[in-house]
Amino acid sequence: MSYDEFYVKSVVRSIPDWPEPGILFRDITPIFQDPKASRMVANAFVDRYMSMDVSHIACIDARGFLFGAIIAHELKKPLVLVRKKGKLPGETISQDYTLEYGTASVEIQKDALKSGDRVVLIDDLIATGGTALAACTLINGLGAEVVEVAALIDLPDLAGSTKIQDTGVPVHCLLAYDGL
Ligand code: AMP
Repeated sequence: MSYDEFYVKSVVRSIPDWPEPGILFRDITPIFQDPKASRMVANAFVDRYMSMDVSHIACIDARGFLFGAIIAHELKKPLVLVRKKGKLPGETISQDYTLEYGTASVEIQKDALKSGDRVVLIDDLIATGGTALAACTLINGLGAEVVEVAALIDLPDLAGSTKIQDTGVPVHCLLAYDGL
C-alpha cells in the first residue's frame, strides 16, 4: 500500500479551541481507528528507517508511544520510552522544559541506552519543539546519539522543527499544517 499524504491528512481531525481557546488541536486518534491510514503511516516510517543505521526507537509519552511501538515492532528494534515525570520505575534521569505556561519534565530510565546507540525519536506532533528537545537531551545524557526526530505532524509556524535542526539533529515529518 503506497503512502497517500492526502488520505492520511483527511483522517487527522482538527478540533478548534481545545484544550484551551486559541489552540487548534490536531487529533491523531482517528489514524488508529483506520487501519489503512495507520498502516500507511507506519510503512512510511519503517521504509525510511529500515535503510538507516539505527539501533533503537525512542518515543514520547503518550501519543508518541502509539507510533513508536508499531515502528519498533516492524523494524525489530528495541523501544525506549520517554515518559512524563514520575511514571518510570527504577533509576531515571529528568529534564525540565518550558511550556506556554510553566514547566514540565520528562524522564528516561538510566539503563535504556548507552554510548554508541543510534536513536530515532518519535512523537505525534512537533509544535514548539520543547518536548522533543528535552527528550534529545535525555538521550544524549545517556551517551547515545539522536539520528533523527520524527513525527506525523509538523507545525512549522511554531518553528520547533527548525529549533531542533539548529542543534544539528535532522527532523522528518509526514504532514505539515499552517498556523498554530
Ligand atoms: P511541543 O513541545 O510544543 O513541540 O509540543 C509537542 C507536544 O504537545 C506533542 O507531544 C503534541 O502531542 C502536543 N501538541 C502541541 N500542540 C498540539 C496541537 N496543536 N495539536 C495536537 N497536539 C499538540
